[in-house]
Amino acid sequence: MERGILFVFSGPSGTGKGTVLKEVFKTVENLHYSVSATTRAPRNGEVHGVNYYFIDDAEFDRMIASGEMLEYVEKFTNRYGTPKKAVEEMLEKGEDVILEIETIGAENVRRQMPECVSIFIAPPSLKELWFRLTGRNTDDENIEKLRFETSKVELMCAYNYDYIVVNDTVAHCAEQVLGIIEAERCKVSRNRKVIENILYN
Ligand code: 5GP
Repeated sequence: MERGILFVFSGPSGTGKGTVLKEVFKTVENLHYSVSATTRAPRNGEVHGVNYYFIDDAEFDRMIASGEMLEYVEKFTNRYGTPKKAVEEMLEKGEDVILEIETIGAENVRRQMPECVSIFIAPPSLKELWFRLTGRNTDDENIEKLRFETSKVELMCAYNYDYIVVNDTVAHCAEQVLGIIEAERCKVSRNRKVIENILYN
């Protein structure tokens, strides 16, 4: 059985990557969303075990100490991490997995698993990013400014990714992401058994 593909999906806050991913999941098959652990409080409508595992600092520390995190990062005074076990199990079963993580975590994953496929979602412009960040009204003004500055730094990390997709419209961006996923799945390096089956069975 071929090992599954690990997709790493990043983009600064306000690029709308969550919305794009929702659209992608409407059509793609055999792709699993890795649920991260976080110490931040749930936002309205967020569900434990679906959006995140909402855990406290002590539990986060315990998971790091016992080697249960594939990667973790501190961002805006909260911590976020990818639980390793679920990801490994799915990849071993030949299932593809997508991590929606920020750029430092993505760098750590690339170092540990260089075979992963990383996709960066970018806003069409900084002006549009600011508009999207301030339009969502979930944070106070200082946090919005901090998120904007962080987003600019994160944009510089786009150079390290395998693919970049500009989120001009959700539909177009999702279509391009789906195209990347399909193309990666069709790589000969991942389909040697398909060729053997055709030739020898
Ligand atoms: P939010 O608080 O808006 O849900 O997420 C803030 C940032 O943390 C986003 O850029 C998101 O992609 C990132 N993030 C979520 N889960 C993880 C994780 O497990 N690891 C890392 N490194 N970043 C994460």
